[in-house]
Amino acid sequence: MQIHPFAIYLILSALITLAASLLAWQRSMPGSVTLRWLLMSMTIWSGAYAARWFDLSFDAKLFSFNLMYIGILVMPTLFLIFTLRLARNDHWLSPRNLLLLAIEPSLSLLLMWTNGFHHWYYTSIQPVAQGGLVMLEFVRGPWYLVNTLYSYAVILLALTVMFLSALRLGPLFRSQYRLIIIGSIIPWASSIFNELNFTVLQGLDLTPVAFGISGILFAFAVLRVRFMQLIPVARSHLIDNMQDGVLVLDERHHIVDCNPALERLMGEPSRTLIGRNAFDLFSQWLIQPDELLHGLETGTEMRIPNAPSRYLDLRVTPLFDAYNQLNGRLIVFRDVTERKEVERKLRNANSRLQTQLIEIGVLQSQLREQAIRDPLTNLFNRRYLEETLDRELARAARERYAVCVMMIDIDHFKQVNDTYGHEAGDVMLKSIAETLTLHTRRGDFACRFGGEEFVIVMPNINTDIAYDRAEALRESLNSLHVSYGRFSLSATFSIGIACYPANGETRETVLRAADKAMYAVKRSGRDDIRSFDDLTPVGG
Ligand code: GH3
Ligand code: MG
Ligand code: MG
Repeated sequence: MQIHPFAIYLILSALITLAASLLAWQRSMPGSVTLRWLLMSMTIWSGAYAARWFDLSFDAKLFSFNLMYIGILVMPTLFLIFTLRLARNDHWLSPRNLLLLAIEPSLSLLLMWTNGFHHWYYTSIQPVAQGGLVMLEFVRGPWYLVNTLYSYAVILLALTVMFLSALRLGPLFRSQYRLIIIGSIIPWASSIFNELNFTVLQGLDLTPVAFGISGILFAFAVLRVRFMQLIPVARSHLIDNMQDGVLVLDERHHIVDCNPALERLMGEPSRTLIGRNAFDLFSQWLIQPDELLHGLETGTEMRIPNAPSRYLDLRVTPLFDAYNQLNGRLIVFRDVTERKEVERKLRNANSRLQTQLIEIGVLQSQLREQAIRDPLTNLFNRRYLEETLDRELARAARERYAVCVMMIDIDHFKQVNDTYGHEAGDVMLKSIAETLTLHTRRGDFACRFGGEEFVIVMPNINTDIAYDRAEALRESLNSLHVSYGRFSLSATFSIGIACYPANGETRETVLRAADKAMYAVKRSGRDDIRSFDDLTPVGG
C-alpha cells in the first residue's frame, strides 16, 4: 500500500501532539488538564485528516472527516479555557460560562453530523477521483462561515488573554508565554491561509501539519522552561514593587525567581541568583538551611550579608499545586533592623528602670528602718512603739488577750556619764540594748523609750509571766559587765510592769501605769521589779 507523504506529515503531527498531551498529563500546573485536552483535540484533527491520503472508500473518508470535526470544533474553546486558567482567571470559568462556551461547538458538531439532512454546513460533499484516490469535494454552506468567524473570535480572545498576562508577568514567565503564543499563532495563520484558498499543495490544509510544531513548542515550554510549575502570580507587579525581598524556590530547592527588593537587600543581581541551589546560597548567607527548607511554615532572623548591622526576618512558606503537591517555596525577607533597634532600646530602658526600682526599694526600706530605729542602740524608737502598741492593743481587744509592758530605767546612770564620760555611757547603753534584744521573744519587741529608759512589749501573757520574764532579764542585766578601757562598768535597773487591759485600756494609760510601777521601785531604793497591780490594793 502506497502512503502519500502528506499522510506521513499528518501522522507525525498527530504523534507529536499526542506525546505532548501525555507530557502535560504528568505535570500539575494551572491549566494542565485543559492543555492535555487541547493537545488531544489537535491529535484527533491531524490524525483524522491523515485518512484523506489513504486509499479508503468514500464512506470511510466521510467518517474520518466527521471525526476530524470533533477536533476542529472543540479546539478554539479549549484554547480559550487554557489561556484563562494559565492566567489564573479561573473565576471567569464559572459553570454558567463554561456551558455558554459549549453551545457553539456542540451545535456545530450536531449540524456537521446531520449535514446530510439540511446541507447547512456543506452544501454538497462529493467523491472525486484524484491521483488514484477517492477524494472529497466540498461546497461550503452558510454554517461553515458562522463557525469559522466564531472560532476566530474565540482564538483572538484567547491570544489577547495570553498577551495581557505575558505583559503582566516578569521576563522569566514571559519567555514561556512567548512559546505558547507562537505555538498557537502558527496553526491559526495556516488556517487563515487555507480559508483564503491559498492552497499550494494539492488541497492540503497546513493547519493540522502546523500542530506538530505547536506540539513541539508546547512540550518545550512544559519540559524545559517548566512554565507552569510555579504560579505566575508570584511574579506580579505587587511582588516587584514590594519593600520585602522575595525568593521563589522549586521543589528541588533551586531558585527560580526573585524580586528587585531581594537583589537590593542581598546586593546580588537576579541573574547570579536564579538557578542556584538554596542550600548553597543560605550557607553563604550564614543561615542554617536544613530546618528552614524542610518544615512547613518556618522562619528565622539573619543579618544582611553585606551590612551585618542590619537584620532581616525570613519567612518560608511552602507552595502547593492544585493537587496539593508541594511544588516549591516562597521566602520573604523583611528588614526588621528598626524594629529590633526599638526593641533593644526598650529592653535597655526596661532593665535600667528595673535596677532603679530595686535601688529605690532598698532606699525605701533603709529609710523606713531609719525612721523606726534608734541609731545608737538599733532598738525600735519611741515613735515605732507608739504606732505598734496601738495596733497590738487593738488586736488584743479583738482577740481578747492581755498585753504586758515592762518599763526599764537604769539606776544612777548619770553617775556613769559623770565618772567615765558620755562615751562610756553610750557604750553601756549599747550593751544593755543587746541584752534586751537577746531577751526579746518572737512577737515581743524592745524599744528605747527615752535617754536611758527602755520598754519591752509582750503580747498575750499575764502579769505573773511578765514578772518572771522581768526577773530573768534583771538577772542578766545585773550580771552584765561592760568593758570600757581598763574599767568594767555595771549597773542595776528599776523595772515596772503593767498590763492591758487590767492596768490601762489605752497605750498612754498602760505606759503611764508601767512608769508609775517603775518609779515606785525608784522610791523604794531601786534595783527591783514592781507590777502596777502591787501598787493598788486588790480587793481592798
Ligand atoms: P535614777 O534614774 O536612778 O534616778 O538616776 P539617773 O541618774 O539614771 O537619772 P536621770 O534621769 O537624772 O539621769 C539620766 C541620765 O542619763 C542623764 C543623761 O546624762 C543620761 N543620758 C541620757 N541619754 C544618754 C545618752 O544617749 N548617752 C549617755 N551617755 N547618757 C545619756
Ligand atoms: Mg535612770
Ligand atoms: Mg531616766
